[in-house]
Amino acid sequence: MGTNTKLYSLASLQFDNRFIRELPADSATDNIRRQVLQACYSFVQPAKVPAPQLISYSKEVAQLLDISEQDCQSDTFLNAFVGNQLLDGMKPYAQCYGGHQFGNWAGQLGDGRAINLGEVINQQGQRQTLQLKGAGETPYSRGGDGLAVLRSSLREFLCSEAMFHLGVPTTRALSLITTGQQVTRDMFYDGRPQQELGAVVCRVAPSFTRFGSFEIFSSRGDTDTLKQLLDYTITTDFPELGEPSVDVYIKWFKEVADRTIDLVVHWMRVGFVHGVLNTDNMSILGLTIDYGPYGWIDNYDPNWTPNTTDASNKRYRFGHQAQIAQWNLGQLANAIFPLIEQAEPLREILNQFATDYTERWQTMRAEKLGLSSFIAETDESLNQDLHVLLQHFETDMTIFYRRLADIDVSNLNLTDDALIEPLLAAYYDAEALTAEDKSQICTWLRRYQQRANQDDIDAETRKQNMNAVNPKYVLRNYIAQQAIDAAEQGDTAYVDNLLEVLRRPYDEQPENEQFAAKRPEWARQRPGCSMLSCSS
Ligand code: AMP
Ligand code: MG
Repeated sequence: MGTNTKLYSLASLQFDNRFIRELPADSATDNIRRQVLQACYSFVQPAKVPAPQLISYSKEVAQLLDISEQDCQSDTFLNAFVGNQLLDGMKPYAQCYGGHQFGNWAGQLGDGRAINLGEVINQQGQRQTLQLKGAGETPYSRGGDGLAVLRSSLREFLCSEAMFHLGVPTTRALSLITTGQQVTRDMFYDGRPQQELGAVVCRVAPSFTRFGSFEIFSSRGDTDTLKQLLDYTITTDFPELGEPSVDVYIKWFKEVADRTIDLVVHWMRVGFVHGVLNTDNMSILGLTIDYGPYGWIDNYDPNWTPNTTDASNKRYRFGHQAQIAQWNLGQLANAIFPLIEQAEPLREILNQFATDYTERWQTMRAEKLGLSSFIAETDESLNQDLHVLLQHFETDMTIFYRRLADIDVSNLNLTDDALIEPLLAAYYDAEALTAEDKSQICTWLRRYQQRANQDDIDAETRKQNMNAVNPKYVLRNYIAQQAIDAAEQGDTAYVDNLLEVLRRPYDEQPENEQFAAKRPEWARQRPGCSMLSCSS
Protein backbone atom coordinates (compact mmCIF):
# COMPACT_ATOMS: atom_id res chain seq x y z
CA MET A 1 0.00 0.00 0.00
CA GLY A 2 1.38 3.42 -0.98
CA THR A 3 2.01 5.94 1.76
CA ASN A 4 -0.70 8.23 0.33
CA THR A 5 -3.42 5.66 0.57
CA LYS A 6 -6.00 6.68 3.13
CA LEU A 7 -7.73 4.11 5.22
CA TYR A 8 -11.39 5.00 5.25
CA SER A 9 -13.54 3.25 7.74
CA LEU A 10 -16.60 4.00 9.80
CA ALA A 11 -14.96 2.29 12.72
CA SER A 12 -12.00 4.64 12.65
CA LEU A 13 -13.94 7.92 12.69
CA GLN A 14 -12.16 10.18 15.16
CA PHE A 15 -14.58 11.75 17.61
CA ASP A 16 -13.58 14.71 19.72
CA ASN A 17 -16.70 15.87 21.52
CA ARG A 18 -15.54 19.28 22.60
CA PHE A 19 -18.97 20.90 22.91
CA ILE A 20 -20.08 18.52 25.66
CA ARG A 21 -16.60 18.33 27.19
CA GLU A 22 -16.23 22.06 27.71
CA LEU A 23 -19.77 23.32 28.22
CA PRO A 24 -22.18 22.72 31.09
CA ALA A 25 -24.60 19.77 30.80
CA ASP A 26 -28.16 19.46 32.03
CA SER A 27 -27.80 17.48 35.26
CA ALA A 28 -31.03 15.57 34.63
CA THR A 29 -30.75 12.73 32.14
CA ASP A 30 -34.33 11.51 31.93
CA ASN A 31 -35.91 12.31 28.60
CA ILE A 32 -38.75 14.44 29.92
CA ARG A 33 -39.85 17.74 28.41
CA ARG A 34 -38.78 20.56 30.68
CA GLN A 35 -37.09 23.92 31.04
CA VAL A 36 -33.36 23.26 31.15
CA LEU A 37 -31.46 25.84 33.17
CA GLN A 38 -27.77 26.80 33.28
CA ALA A 39 -26.88 24.17 30.69
CA CYS A 40 -26.07 24.22 26.98
CA TYR A 41 -27.38 20.71 26.27
CA SER A 42 -28.98 17.54 27.61
CA PHE A 43 -27.77 13.99 27.09
CA VAL A 44 -30.37 11.98 25.22
CA GLN A 45 -30.54 8.74 23.24
CA PRO A 46 -31.94 8.55 19.69
CA ALA A 47 -35.08 6.44 19.38
CA LYS A 48 -34.73 3.01 17.78
CA VAL A 49 -36.62 2.46 14.53
CA PRO A 50 -38.01 -0.78 13.08
CA ALA A 51 -36.92 -0.93 9.43
CA PRO A 52 -34.33 1.59 8.27
CA GLN A 53 -33.75 1.94 4.56
CA LEU A 54 -31.14 4.09 2.85
CA ILE A 55 -32.73 6.46 0.36
CA SER A 56 -29.65 8.44 -0.59
CA TYR A 57 -26.32 9.73 0.68
CA SER A 58 -23.98 12.49 -0.34
CA LYS A 59 -20.66 11.14 -1.51
CA GLU A 60 -19.05 14.56 -1.02
CA VAL A 61 -20.09 14.72 2.63
CA ALA A 62 -18.97 11.13 3.15
CA GLN A 63 -15.60 12.12 1.73
CA LEU A 64 -15.47 15.17 3.98
CA LEU A 65 -15.85 12.79 6.91
CA ASP A 66 -13.39 10.22 5.50
CA ILE A 67 -16.15 7.63 5.08
CA SER A 68 -15.73 5.40 2.02
CA GLU A 69 -18.62 4.90 -0.41
CA GLN A 70 -18.51 1.23 0.42
CA ASP A 71 -19.08 2.03 4.08
CA CYS A 72 -22.05 4.23 3.12
CA GLN A 73 -23.77 1.11 1.80
CA SER A 74 -23.14 -0.91 4.95
CA ASP A 75 -25.55 -1.93 7.69
CA THR A 76 -23.39 -0.14 10.22
CA PHE A 77 -23.86 3.12 8.32
CA LEU A 78 -27.61 2.55 8.06
CA ASN A 79 -27.98 1.82 11.75
CA ALA A 80 -25.61 4.54 12.93
CA PHE A 81 -27.21 7.33 10.89
CA VAL A 82 -30.79 6.43 11.65
CA GLY A 83 -30.01 6.33 15.38
CA ASN A 84 -30.21 2.58 16.02
CA GLN A 85 -26.55 2.09 16.87
CA LEU A 86 -23.89 4.30 18.40
CA LEU A 87 -20.40 4.15 16.92
CA ASP A 88 -17.42 4.26 19.25
CA GLY A 89 -16.96 7.84 20.41
CA MET A 90 -20.57 8.99 19.85
CA LYS A 91 -22.21 10.63 22.86
CA PRO A 92 -25.65 11.94 21.84
CA TYR A 93 -27.07 15.22 23.11
CA ALA A 94 -29.67 17.86 22.29
CA GLN A 95 -28.81 21.56 22.46
CA CYS A 96 -30.68 24.15 24.47
CA TYR A 97 -31.58 27.37 22.69
CA GLY A 98 -34.32 29.94 22.51
CA GLY A 99 -35.49 32.22 19.79
CA HIS A 100 -37.66 34.97 18.40
CA GLN A 101 -40.32 33.42 16.22
CA PHE A 102 -42.07 35.77 13.76
CA GLY A 103 -40.76 38.72 15.74
CA ASN A 104 -41.83 37.54 19.20
CA TRP A 105 -39.73 36.08 21.97
CA ALA A 106 -40.69 32.40 22.21
CA GLY A 107 -38.63 31.31 25.21
CA GLN A 108 -36.88 27.96 25.28
CA LEU A 109 -36.98 26.01 22.01
CA GLY A 110 -33.94 23.76 21.65
CA ASP A 111 -33.26 20.65 19.60
CA GLY A 112 -36.76 19.21 19.73
CA ARG A 113 -36.25 16.85 16.82
CA ALA A 114 -32.49 16.93 16.41
CA ILE A 115 -29.92 14.85 18.26
CA ASN A 116 -26.20 15.49 17.92
CA LEU A 117 -24.07 12.36 17.75
CA GLY A 118 -20.70 13.98 18.29
CA GLU A 119 -17.92 15.88 16.58
CA VAL A 120 -15.68 14.19 14.03
CA ILE A 121 -12.17 15.42 13.28
CA ASN A 122 -11.34 14.47 9.69
CA GLN A 123 -7.91 13.72 8.30
CA GLN A 124 -7.48 17.41 7.40
CA GLY A 125 -8.08 18.23 11.05
CA GLN A 126 -11.46 19.83 10.33
CA ARG A 127 -14.19 19.57 12.95
CA GLN A 128 -17.70 18.51 11.86
CA THR A 129 -20.68 17.92 14.14
CA LEU A 130 -22.98 15.07 13.11
CA GLN A 131 -26.64 15.60 13.90
CA LEU A 132 -29.68 13.40 13.30
CA LYS A 133 -32.89 15.24 12.48
CA GLY A 134 -36.04 13.26 13.25
CA ALA A 135 -34.48 10.74 15.64
CA GLY A 136 -37.01 11.10 18.43
CA GLU A 137 -38.01 13.10 21.46
CA THR A 138 -35.72 15.22 23.58
CA PRO A 139 -36.35 17.43 26.64
CA TYR A 140 -36.88 20.24 24.07
CA SER A 141 -39.62 18.54 22.04
CA ARG A 142 -42.39 20.70 23.57
CA GLY A 143 -45.61 19.70 21.75
CA GLY A 144 -43.87 17.78 18.96
CA ASP A 145 -43.04 14.12 18.48
CA GLY A 146 -39.35 14.57 17.66
CA LEU A 147 -39.84 12.91 14.31
CA ALA A 148 -39.58 13.93 10.68
CA VAL A 149 -41.23 12.58 7.55
CA LEU A 150 -39.75 11.56 4.23
CA ARG A 151 -41.25 14.57 2.45
CA SER A 152 -39.54 17.19 4.62
CA SER A 153 -36.35 15.16 5.10
CA LEU A 154 -35.90 14.75 1.36
CA ARG A 155 -36.36 18.50 0.95
CA GLU A 156 -33.66 19.14 3.54
CA PHE A 157 -31.29 16.53 2.13
CA LEU A 158 -31.52 17.71 -1.47
CA CYS A 159 -31.51 21.39 -0.74
CA SER A 160 -28.48 21.28 1.58
CA GLU A 161 -26.45 19.62 -1.13
CA ALA A 162 -27.87 21.79 -3.93
CA MET A 163 -26.91 24.90 -1.96
CA PHE A 164 -23.41 23.63 -1.35
CA HIS A 165 -22.84 23.03 -5.05
CA LEU A 166 -24.26 26.47 -5.82
CA GLY A 167 -21.58 27.96 -3.56
CA VAL A 168 -24.06 29.11 -0.89
CA PRO A 169 -22.90 28.62 2.72
CA THR A 170 -24.97 25.83 4.25
CA THR A 171 -25.14 22.96 6.68
CA ARG A 172 -24.62 19.70 4.79
CA ALA A 173 -26.50 16.40 4.67
CA LEU A 174 -24.73 13.05 4.79
CA SER A 175 -27.65 10.69 4.49
CA LEU A 176 -31.37 10.26 4.14
CA ILE A 177 -32.80 7.11 5.71
CA THR A 178 -36.43 6.12 6.09
CA THR A 179 -37.38 4.53 9.39
CA GLY A 180 -40.17 2.10 8.45
CA GLN A 181 -42.34 3.92 10.98
CA GLN A 182 -45.52 5.87 10.23
CA VAL A 183 -45.70 9.44 11.49
CA THR A 184 -48.86 11.52 11.72
CA ARG A 185 -48.71 14.95 10.11
CA ASP A 186 -51.32 17.62 9.50
CA MET A 187 -49.44 19.18 6.61
CA PHE A 188 -51.52 22.37 6.45
CA TYR A 189 -52.82 22.44 10.02
CA ASP A 190 -56.32 22.13 8.62
CA GLY A 191 -57.54 19.14 10.60
CA ARG A 192 -56.72 16.57 7.94
CA PRO A 193 -53.84 14.59 9.48
CA GLN A 194 -52.26 11.84 7.42
CA GLN A 195 -49.86 9.00 8.05
CA GLU A 196 -46.51 9.51 6.39
CA LEU A 197 -43.30 7.53 6.31
CA GLY A 198 -40.75 8.67 8.90
CA ALA A 199 -37.19 9.55 7.94
CA VAL A 200 -33.94 10.76 9.47
CA VAL A 201 -31.39 13.07 7.86
CA CYS A 202 -27.86 13.19 9.19
CA ARG A 203 -26.87 16.85 9.03
CA VAL A 204 -23.26 17.94 9.17
CA ALA A 205 -21.76 21.32 10.08
CA PRO A 206 -18.76 22.59 12.04
CA SER A 207 -21.26 23.90 14.61
CA PHE A 208 -25.04 24.08 14.93
CA THR A 209 -24.97 27.02 17.34
CA ARG A 210 -27.64 29.60 16.57
CA PHE A 211 -28.38 33.22 17.47
CA GLY A 212 -31.00 31.77 19.82
CA SER A 213 -28.32 29.74 21.62
CA PHE A 214 -27.11 33.04 23.13
CA GLU A 215 -30.53 34.62 23.53
CA ILE A 216 -31.74 31.89 25.89
CA PHE A 217 -29.09 32.65 28.52
CA SER A 218 -29.38 36.41 28.45
CA SER A 219 -33.19 36.14 28.60
CA ARG A 220 -32.72 34.25 31.87
CA GLY A 221 -30.09 36.62 33.20
CA ASP A 222 -27.63 33.71 33.16
CA THR A 223 -24.51 35.68 32.24
CA ASP A 224 -22.15 32.93 33.41
CA THR A 225 -23.41 30.35 30.92
CA LEU A 226 -23.71 33.04 28.26
CA LYS A 227 -20.02 33.88 28.73
CA GLN A 228 -19.00 30.24 28.70
CA LEU A 229 -20.81 29.66 25.41
CA LEU A 230 -19.41 32.78 23.75
CA ASP A 231 -15.84 32.08 24.90
CA TYR A 232 -16.21 28.51 23.73
CA THR A 233 -17.59 29.59 20.34
CA ILE A 234 -14.77 32.05 19.78
CA THR A 235 -11.98 29.67 20.74
CA THR A 236 -13.49 26.75 18.79
CA ASP A 237 -15.03 28.28 15.69
CA PHE A 238 -13.35 31.70 15.43
CA PRO A 239 -9.81 31.13 16.80
CA GLU A 240 -8.40 33.69 14.35
CA LEU A 241 -10.12 36.45 16.36
CA GLY A 242 -7.85 35.87 19.36
CA GLU A 243 -8.37 35.15 23.05
CA PRO A 244 -11.88 36.06 24.23
CA SER A 245 -12.14 39.60 25.66
CA VAL A 246 -14.64 42.43 25.35
CA ASP A 247 -12.85 43.67 22.20
CA VAL A 248 -12.91 40.20 20.72
CA TYR A 249 -16.64 39.85 21.50
CA ILE A 250 -17.23 42.97 19.42
CA LYS A 251 -15.02 41.69 16.63
CA TRP A 252 -16.91 38.43 16.75
CA PHE A 253 -20.24 40.17 16.38
CA LYS A 254 -18.87 42.05 13.36
CA GLU A 255 -17.69 38.76 11.86
CA VAL A 256 -21.11 37.13 12.35
CA ALA A 257 -22.72 40.19 10.73
CA ASP A 258 -20.32 39.99 7.77
CA ARG A 259 -20.98 36.31 7.22
CA THR A 260 -24.72 36.91 7.46
CA ILE A 261 -24.50 39.59 4.78
CA ASP A 262 -22.67 37.22 2.44
CA LEU A 263 -25.27 34.57 3.11
CA VAL A 264 -28.21 36.80 2.22
CA VAL A 265 -26.47 38.13 -0.91
CA HIS A 266 -26.10 34.52 -2.06
CA TRP A 267 -29.76 33.76 -1.33
CA MET A 268 -30.79 36.78 -3.38
CA ARG A 269 -28.43 35.78 -6.17
CA VAL A 270 -29.88 32.28 -6.59
CA GLY A 271 -33.51 33.09 -5.73
CA PHE A 272 -33.73 31.22 -2.42
CA VAL A 273 -36.36 32.07 0.18
CA HIS A 274 -35.62 30.55 3.59
CA GLY A 275 -39.20 30.88 4.73
CA VAL A 276 -38.70 30.84 8.53
CA LEU A 277 -35.95 33.26 9.48
CA ASN A 278 -36.59 33.03 13.20
CA THR A 279 -33.50 33.69 15.34
CA ASP A 280 -33.26 30.00 16.22
CA ASN A 281 -32.78 29.35 12.51
CA MET A 282 -29.81 31.71 12.16
CA SER A 283 -26.40 30.03 12.27
CA ILE A 284 -23.56 31.90 13.96
CA LEU A 285 -21.32 30.56 11.20
CA GLY A 286 -23.43 32.27 8.54
CA LEU A 287 -24.73 28.99 7.14
CA THR A 288 -28.16 28.31 5.72
CA ILE A 289 -29.70 26.18 8.46
CA ASP A 290 -33.05 24.46 9.11
CA TYR A 291 -34.58 23.71 5.77
CA GLY A 292 -38.33 23.79 6.34
CA PRO A 293 -40.88 25.65 4.22
CA TYR A 294 -38.18 27.16 2.02
CA GLY A 295 -38.75 27.82 -1.65
CA TRP A 296 -37.12 28.97 -4.85
CA ILE A 297 -38.28 31.92 -6.87
CA ASP A 298 -39.94 30.77 -10.08
CA ASN A 299 -41.50 33.95 -11.50
CA TYR A 300 -39.59 36.88 -10.07
CA ASP A 301 -41.54 38.31 -7.15
CA PRO A 302 -39.83 39.98 -4.18
CA ASN A 303 -43.04 39.62 -2.17
CA TRP A 304 -43.28 35.87 -2.49
CA THR A 305 -43.01 33.52 0.47
CA PRO A 306 -43.54 29.77 0.23
CA ASN A 307 -44.57 29.57 3.89
CA THR A 308 -48.35 29.46 4.33
CA THR A 309 -47.86 30.06 8.08
CA ASP A 310 -46.49 33.49 7.06
CA ALA A 311 -48.98 34.17 4.27
CA SER A 312 -50.68 37.17 5.83
CA ASN A 313 -47.68 39.19 7.03
CA LYS A 314 -45.10 37.82 4.63
CA ARG A 315 -42.44 38.72 7.16
CA TYR A 316 -40.01 36.28 5.54
CA ARG A 317 -40.71 37.14 1.90
CA PHE A 318 -37.88 36.96 -0.65
CA GLY A 319 -37.11 40.66 -0.87
CA HIS A 320 -37.21 41.21 2.90
CA GLN A 321 -34.53 38.74 3.92
CA ALA A 322 -31.76 41.30 4.40
CA GLN A 323 -33.88 43.46 6.72
CA ILE A 324 -34.86 40.39 8.69
CA ALA A 325 -31.26 39.26 8.97
CA GLN A 326 -30.40 42.69 10.35
CA TRP A 327 -33.29 42.52 12.83
CA ASN A 328 -32.10 39.08 13.92
CA LEU A 329 -28.57 40.41 14.40
CA GLY A 330 -30.13 43.09 16.60
CA GLN A 331 -31.46 40.30 18.82
CA LEU A 332 -28.03 38.69 18.91
CA ALA A 333 -26.53 42.07 19.90
CA ASN A 334 -29.05 42.32 22.76
CA ALA A 335 -28.16 38.81 23.81
CA ILE A 336 -24.42 39.41 24.13
CA PHE A 337 -24.77 42.96 25.47
CA PRO A 338 -24.41 41.85 29.13
CA LEU A 339 -20.86 40.70 28.29
CA ILE A 340 -19.95 43.98 26.59
CA GLU A 341 -22.00 46.65 28.36
CA GLN A 342 -21.41 49.20 25.60
CA ALA A 343 -24.22 49.78 23.16
CA GLU A 344 -22.33 52.01 20.73
CA PRO A 345 -19.98 49.52 19.05
CA LEU A 346 -22.84 47.03 18.60
CA ARG A 347 -25.11 49.73 17.21
CA GLU A 348 -22.40 50.82 14.79
CA ILE A 349 -22.03 47.28 13.45
CA LEU A 350 -25.79 46.99 13.02
CA ASN A 351 -25.90 50.29 11.15
CA GLN A 352 -22.96 49.25 9.03
CA PHE A 353 -24.95 46.16 8.04
CA ALA A 354 -27.25 48.19 5.79
CA THR A 355 -24.35 49.98 4.08
CA ASP A 356 -22.30 46.84 3.61
CA TYR A 357 -25.24 44.79 2.42
CA THR A 358 -26.21 47.42 -0.14
CA GLU A 359 -22.67 47.56 -1.42
CA ARG A 360 -22.25 43.82 -1.69
CA TRP A 361 -25.65 43.35 -3.25
CA GLN A 362 -24.84 46.07 -5.79
CA THR A 363 -21.65 44.25 -6.72
CA MET A 364 -23.57 41.00 -7.02
CA ARG A 365 -26.24 42.58 -9.18
CA ALA A 366 -23.50 43.91 -11.47
CA GLU A 367 -22.07 40.40 -11.70
CA LYS A 368 -25.46 38.93 -12.48
CA LEU A 369 -25.75 41.37 -15.39
CA GLY A 370 -22.18 40.67 -16.51
CA LEU A 371 -20.99 44.21 -15.71
CA SER A 372 -17.49 44.79 -14.40
CA SER A 373 -18.71 47.07 -11.59
CA PHE A 374 -21.84 48.70 -10.26
CA ILE A 375 -22.14 52.36 -11.26
CA ALA A 376 -24.80 53.70 -8.95
CA GLU A 377 -25.92 56.63 -11.17
CA THR A 378 -26.96 54.37 -14.01
CA ASP A 379 -27.17 50.85 -12.63
CA GLU A 380 -29.58 51.36 -9.75
CA SER A 381 -32.33 52.43 -12.13
CA LEU A 382 -31.26 49.81 -14.67
CA ASN A 383 -31.82 47.12 -12.02
CA GLN A 384 -35.01 48.60 -10.63
CA ASP A 385 -36.56 48.95 -14.05
CA LEU A 386 -35.60 45.37 -14.81
CA HIS A 387 -37.25 44.15 -11.61
CA VAL A 388 -40.47 45.94 -12.55
CA LEU A 389 -40.45 44.25 -15.97
CA LEU A 390 -39.66 40.81 -14.55
CA GLN A 391 -42.62 41.10 -12.23
CA HIS A 392 -44.99 42.68 -14.71
CA PHE A 393 -44.41 40.09 -17.43
CA GLU A 394 -44.32 36.99 -15.23
CA THR A 395 -40.68 36.03 -15.83
CA ASP A 396 -38.74 33.07 -14.52
CA MET A 397 -35.82 34.54 -12.57
CA THR A 398 -33.37 31.68 -13.08
CA ILE A 399 -33.99 31.29 -16.81
CA PHE A 400 -33.97 35.04 -17.41
CA TYR A 401 -30.54 35.70 -15.90
CA ARG A 402 -29.11 32.58 -17.47
CA ARG A 403 -30.40 33.51 -20.93
CA LEU A 404 -29.39 37.13 -20.58
CA ALA A 405 -25.84 35.90 -21.13
CA ASP A 406 -26.93 34.89 -24.64
CA ILE A 407 -27.92 38.41 -25.66
CA ASP A 408 -25.54 39.88 -28.20
CA VAL A 409 -24.77 43.19 -26.56
CA SER A 410 -22.60 44.45 -29.41
CA ASN A 411 -25.27 44.23 -32.10
CA LEU A 412 -27.38 47.37 -31.73
CA ASN A 413 -29.32 46.83 -34.94
CA LEU A 414 -31.38 43.79 -33.97
CA THR A 415 -35.13 43.86 -34.40
CA ASP A 416 -37.22 43.49 -31.24
CA ASP A 417 -38.02 39.90 -32.13
CA ALA A 418 -34.39 38.98 -32.70
CA LEU A 419 -33.23 40.78 -29.57
CA ILE A 420 -35.75 39.17 -27.23
CA GLU A 421 -35.51 35.71 -28.81
CA PRO A 422 -33.01 34.13 -26.36
CA LEU A 423 -35.20 35.26 -23.44
CA LEU A 424 -38.58 33.95 -24.59
CA ALA A 425 -38.19 30.71 -22.65
CA ALA A 426 -38.19 32.74 -19.42
CA TYR A 427 -41.73 34.10 -19.82
CA TYR A 428 -44.56 32.13 -18.27
CA ASP A 429 -46.83 33.21 -21.08
CA ALA A 430 -44.52 34.13 -23.96
CA GLU A 431 -47.34 33.68 -26.46
CA ALA A 432 -49.32 36.42 -24.83
CA LEU A 433 -46.56 39.00 -25.24
CA THR A 434 -47.77 41.63 -27.70
CA ALA A 435 -45.51 43.63 -29.99
CA GLU A 436 -45.93 46.49 -27.54
CA ASP A 437 -44.90 44.32 -24.59
CA LYS A 438 -41.86 43.15 -26.49
CA SER A 439 -40.99 46.69 -27.40
CA GLN A 440 -41.15 47.67 -23.73
CA ILE A 441 -38.83 44.81 -22.78
CA CYS A 442 -36.54 45.64 -25.68
CA THR A 443 -36.29 49.26 -24.60
CA TRP A 444 -34.72 47.94 -21.42
CA LEU A 445 -32.56 45.44 -23.34
CA ARG A 446 -31.19 48.23 -25.52
CA ARG A 447 -30.29 50.25 -22.46
CA TYR A 448 -28.62 47.15 -21.13
CA GLN A 449 -26.68 46.65 -24.36
CA GLN A 450 -25.41 50.22 -24.18
CA ARG A 451 -24.42 49.83 -20.56
CA ALA A 452 -22.68 46.49 -21.14
CA ASN A 453 -20.77 48.02 -24.04
CA GLN A 454 -19.21 50.59 -21.70
CA ASP A 455 -17.28 47.70 -20.18
CA ASP A 456 -14.41 46.28 -22.12
CA ILE A 457 -15.38 42.63 -21.74
CA ASP A 458 -15.32 40.31 -24.75
CA ALA A 459 -18.46 38.29 -25.48
CA GLU A 460 -17.10 34.92 -24.39
CA THR A 461 -15.72 36.20 -21.07
CA ARG A 462 -18.95 38.06 -20.34
CA LYS A 463 -20.95 34.90 -20.88
CA GLN A 464 -18.59 32.82 -18.74
CA ASN A 465 -18.69 35.37 -15.93
CA MET A 466 -22.47 35.52 -15.96
CA ASN A 467 -22.88 31.76 -16.09
CA ALA A 468 -20.66 31.44 -13.05
CA VAL A 469 -23.09 33.44 -10.86
CA ASN A 470 -26.41 32.68 -12.58
CA PRO A 471 -27.12 28.97 -12.15
CA LYS A 472 -28.83 26.88 -14.75
CA TYR A 473 -30.14 24.33 -12.23
CA VAL A 474 -31.71 25.13 -8.88
CA LEU A 475 -33.93 22.88 -6.78
CA ARG A 476 -37.18 24.11 -8.28
CA ASN A 477 -40.15 23.69 -5.96
CA TYR A 478 -42.06 21.41 -8.31
CA ILE A 479 -38.98 19.30 -9.00
CA ALA A 480 -38.41 18.75 -5.28
CA GLN A 481 -42.05 17.68 -5.10
CA GLN A 482 -41.57 15.25 -8.01
CA ALA A 483 -38.61 13.75 -6.17
CA ILE A 484 -40.84 13.35 -3.09
CA ASP A 485 -43.61 11.72 -5.14
CA ALA A 486 -41.05 9.31 -6.64
CA ALA A 487 -39.42 8.49 -3.30
CA GLU A 488 -42.80 7.89 -1.67
CA GLN A 489 -43.45 5.34 -4.43
CA GLY A 490 -40.11 3.71 -3.66
CA ASP A 491 -38.31 5.17 -6.70
CA THR A 492 -35.02 6.43 -5.29
CA ALA A 493 -33.34 6.60 -8.72
CA TYR A 494 -35.10 9.92 -9.36
CA VAL A 495 -33.48 11.37 -6.24
CA ASP A 496 -30.01 10.16 -7.20
CA ASN A 497 -30.46 11.43 -10.72
CA LEU A 498 -31.57 14.84 -9.51
CA LEU A 499 -28.72 15.04 -7.01
CA GLU A 500 -26.33 14.29 -9.86
CA VAL A 501 -27.74 17.22 -11.87
CA LEU A 502 -27.55 19.54 -8.87
CA ARG A 503 -23.87 18.72 -8.44
CA ARG A 504 -23.09 20.86 -11.50
CA PRO A 505 -25.62 23.70 -11.34
CA TYR A 506 -23.61 26.07 -13.54
CA ASP A 507 -23.01 23.56 -16.37
CA GLU A 508 -25.33 23.38 -19.34
CA GLN A 509 -26.02 19.60 -19.18
CA PRO A 510 -28.18 19.43 -22.36
CA GLU A 511 -29.27 15.90 -21.45
CA ASN A 512 -30.89 17.26 -18.26
CA GLU A 513 -32.74 20.21 -19.74
CA GLN A 514 -36.03 19.03 -18.17
CA PHE A 515 -34.69 19.90 -14.69
CA ALA A 516 -34.17 23.49 -15.82
CA ALA A 517 -37.71 23.91 -17.13
CA LYS A 518 -39.91 26.61 -15.66
CA ARG A 519 -42.75 25.60 -13.37
CA PRO A 520 -45.49 23.81 -15.30
CA GLU A 521 -49.05 25.08 -14.97
CA TRP A 522 -50.18 22.11 -12.82
CA ALA A 523 -47.64 23.06 -10.16
CA ARG A 524 -48.80 26.65 -9.75
CA GLN A 525 -51.20 25.93 -6.88
CA ARG A 526 -50.20 22.43 -5.90
CA PRO A 527 -49.26 22.05 -2.21
CA GLY A 528 -45.54 21.42 -1.90
CA CYS A 529 -44.85 23.20 -5.18
CA SER A 530 -45.81 26.72 -4.24
CA MET A 531 -47.05 26.52 -0.67
CA LEU A 532 -45.65 24.85 2.40
CA SER A 533 -46.28 25.11 6.10
CA CYS A 534 -43.88 25.07 9.03
CA SER A 535 -44.66 21.36 9.39
CA SER A 536 -42.96 20.89 6.03
P1 AMP B 1 -38.23 24.91 13.29
O1 AMP B 1 -39.50 25.51 12.78
O2 AMP B 1 -37.84 23.64 12.59
O3 AMP B 1 -37.11 25.87 13.37
O4 AMP B 1 -38.54 24.44 14.77
C1 AMP B 1 -38.78 25.33 15.83
C2 AMP B 1 -38.71 24.57 17.13
O5 AMP B 1 -39.70 23.55 17.17
C3 AMP B 1 -37.38 23.87 17.36
O6 AMP B 1 -37.12 23.93 18.73
C4 AMP B 1 -37.66 22.47 16.91
O7 AMP B 1 -36.80 21.54 17.51
C5 AMP B 1 -39.11 22.28 17.36
N1 AMP B 1 -39.81 21.28 16.55
C6 AMP B 1 -40.23 21.39 15.29
N2 AMP B 1 -40.82 20.26 14.87
C7 AMP B 1 -40.77 19.39 15.90
C8 AMP B 1 -41.20 18.05 16.12
N3 AMP B 1 -41.82 17.34 15.17
N4 AMP B 1 -40.97 17.51 17.33
C9 AMP B 1 -40.37 18.19 18.30
N5 AMP B 1 -39.93 19.44 18.16
C10 AMP B 1 -40.13 20.04 16.99
MG1 MG C 1 -35.26 25.53 13.79
